[in-house]
Formats: sequence, structure tokens, C-alpha cells
Amino acid sequence: MSSTSKKYIVANWKMNSPTDSVDYYFESLDVPENSEMIICPPFVFLQRVLATCCNEAKIGAQQCSSFANGAYTGQVSASMLAQVGVQFCLVGHSEQRHYNKSNNLLECVQRLHEEKIVPIFCIGETKDEYDRGQSLQVVEEQIKGLNFEFDIIIAYEPIWSIGTGIIPSMKSIDGIASFIKSKTNSKPVLYGGSVNVENASSFSTAQNIDGLLIGGASLSSSSLNEITKRYLNSSD
Ligand code: PEP
Repeated sequence: MSSTSKKYIVANWKMNSPTDSVDYYFESLDVPENSEMIICPPFVFLQRVLATCCNEAKIGAQQCSSFANGAYTGQVSASMLAQVGVQFCLVGHSEQRHYNKSNNLLECVQRLHEEKIVPIFCIGETKDEYDRGQSLQVVEEQIKGLNFEFDIIIAYEPIWSIGTGIIPSMKSIDGIASFIKSKTNSKPVLYGGSVNVENASSFSTAQNIDGLLIGGASLSSSSLNEITKRYLNSSD
């Protein structure tokens, strides 16, 4: 999987239910042909969503264990995700890096590759690192050890943008995405951090990004539909 003309729209519900019912969310979701839409609900919704979801959206998990199986209470393995039909999985989201420090991210990626699930590997710098001009150094360190022979998507999510309403300039996003591509065999690069209906169209000017990862604003299907429409229409 290298860069594609289809744009990715990835929705991360985090530990939230959608504002509409789960069924209504999927019934009312618009999945344009020129998009690859991936919805990542909490684990407990996965089976139901995979059983009932009748539109073109794909389903992702928000994390998986670095272990194959065993005495790891509360964890879910890549093979379990594969058994229920999950096709994508976030790895190393900054909230996971913060609250679940013991997870070995390269091992998680390896487990997912074994199960033919595509990892969406999240990276990004702190505000302090950004201000000190260290963004490239930080993201390069974070992708070290990944195997780019396999399908993988990289999500560039500056930590200081997640849930804050603050986004870097498009020039900065584009430059970092171009750098990531140069180091990853041109794997798709997404941007994530405070994307919403108002700013969605502006990301089309960052030519090196292949899509968006959306947290808070993806909880309502109408908001996600509008973000998708504005981003894709301006990308044409
Ligand atoms: C995220 O959770 O990955 C994210 C980008 O969140 P938000 O859009 O709410 O900043």
C-alpha cells in the first residue's frame, strides 16, 4: 500500500459512544467513492458494528496487545481482532503512549502484520519539541524499527494539537508529512489533531497528506459527513 488517490478518513471514537445511536451513526454515514473511511469504536462495539454495518466503511480497533495470548487481563490480541473481522488498528496513539506505557509498539505492529490487519501507527511531537525545532528528529525516532515492506499507515498527530483546538500551519504539516514519506517508502501519511468542520477544507492544501484522523468531531455522523465532504471536495 503506497500513497493512493483515495483519501483516508479515520474516525477515533476514543472511550466515547457516538452522539447518535451506533446504528443511526452507520445508517447515516456517507462514504464517498474517493474515500477510504475507517471507523475505530471501542472494543465492545466491534462485533456489533461488524455484524450490522452495511455501508462501505471499514472498521478499526483503537489498540491491541503486543502479546499473542495468555495472562494479560484486560488486553485484546491481534488474532482476536482478526477473528471478528477488524481490518485496521491504531497503534501508539498518544493517549495509549501515555496511559499504557508498557505496550511494546513494534511488537503490536508485528502481531497485526501476522494477522493481515493494517496498523495505523501514530506519531507526533510535544509542543516543547515543536518549539525547539525538533519535530523531524522526534518523528524519525518514533518510526525507527518499523518494517515498510508491509502495509502500514502513518498518522502524524502533534500531541499539542490533539483535543486542543490548535493546529500547526499547513506548511509545517506538509513539510513533516513529506519528511515521513521520504523515510517510510512513501507509505500513506494522515494528519490528526483538532480537525473539525470549520478547518476541514484547509487540509487539502497539504499535498503530502493522504487523509485525516479525527477524534472528537467524529462522534456525530453529520459532523463526520461534513468534514469528509469539505476535505474531499477541496482536494479534487
Ligand atoms: C485523536 O484522537 O487522534 C484526535 C486527533 O483527536 P481530536 O480530533 O479530538 O483532536
